[in-house]
Amino acid sequence: MPESEKLHPTIDAGVKPTDPNFAGGTLVCLCATRPVKVRIEGQVAHNHACGCTKCWKPQGAVLSVVAVAPHDKVTVVENGDKLKVVDPSALIQRHACVECGVHMYGPVERDHPFKGLDFVHPERFQESGWAAPGFAAFVSSVIEAGVDPSRMEGIRARLRDLKLEPYDCLSPALMDYIATWTAQRSGALKA
Ligand SMILES: [Zn+2]
Ligand SMILES: [Zn+2]
Repeated sequence: MPESEKLHPTIDAGVKPTDPNFAGGTLVCLCATRPVKVRIEGQVAHNHACGCTKCWKPQGAVLSVVAVAPHDKVTVVENGDKLKVVDPSALIQRHACVECGVHMYGPVERDHPFKGLDFVHPERFQESGWAAPGFAAFVSSVIEAGVDPSRMEGIRARLRDLKLEPYDCLSPALMDYIATWTAQRSGALKA
């Protein structure tokens, strides 16, 4: 039996359960001095592991852990002068700390079903109790970051062990949500 694939420091020892009383907290970057701090009011939603090459990952991690919060619940509270948008042409405007590289929040401002949501990395909360990840998205994309394809079977098996069903796009619920928005725009479905 090969050793389990190590995927991300916050899930390798088992997914920590959601605290139903979690009321928000402060995301802090990795800088030892003048860290960027971002306040989130309330719980995050749709937390998941992500294999895409755009999400920020801690050193050595195969996957990121990323969730969303409504844009009006996200406030930069300290050292926002260190933030810079990684790729202004991307759907998600990932605001990263220029010193340590952590993506602190990523609003969607374009006309899109995710407009009004900010992508955040809950592992950077100082507090515990944030919503547990519920699935794994864009798993095949880890190959694009250099993971050998021979590891994929082990990676997907480990995700299933952790009850993080692996998908190669988003989860069916989110794909249906996006398709519904598109159908309402085209008139194929009534809004
Ligand atoms: Zn930093
Ligand atoms: Zn991603």
